[in-house]
Amino acid sequence: MSGIEIVRGDITAQEVDAIVNAANESLLGGGGVDGAIHRSAGPDLLEECRGLGGCPTGQARITHGHRLPAKYIIHTVGPIWRGGGAGEPEFLASCYRSSLTLARDRGCETVAFPAISCGAYGYPLRKAAELSLATVREELDEHGLPALVRWVMFDEEAYRTWVEVQASSTS
Ligand code: ADP
Repeated sequence: MSGIEIVRGDITAQEVDAIVNAANESLLGGGGVDGAIHRSAGPDLLEECRGLGGCPTGQARITHGHRLPAKYIIHTVGPIWRGGGAGEPEFLASCYRSSLTLARDRGCETVAFPAISCGAYGYPLRKAAELSLATVREELDEHGLPALVRWVMFDEEAYRTWVEVQASSTS
């Protein structure tokens, strides 16, 4: 078993040890999944984020989950798609690896990801799915933890793309 699940839903409702936020470098909130997480977690999340002093693209920071069912929120900053020649794949892979490293450090067994960079940041879905799934599979093969990685897809197209790519790489 790969320990990877792909579901449709709202990441803020996930009862997992950590959810991952597709944040921006300020870590002070934004639109998309970032806005949804801040709304659900409540104002204490913004307060905690202010103390972090931002986060460079490709890296990750961890906070408490506040009002969310998840214990932790891992904030990672995906690359803005600029055509693919500006290091976007390396940055996106680094987001997944950095997030999983933090999750393991805190003993998280279950981690939920959104489709990092696939909304406002414009990363092409199929390219993102191939890279994201391959990177997480490598991490799980190498470390064996966390036990479960679940992608929680808000939109149908991202869900379908991830399921297709996962199916074609395991068949
Ligand atoms: P980015 O700026 O990294 O592209 P976005 O938040 O704009 O981040 O989009 C990333 C993905 O998160 C998109 O596929 C978007 O549909 C999805 N998304 C938005 N809200 C939620 C949510 N509540 N739960 C899970 N995914 C969400």
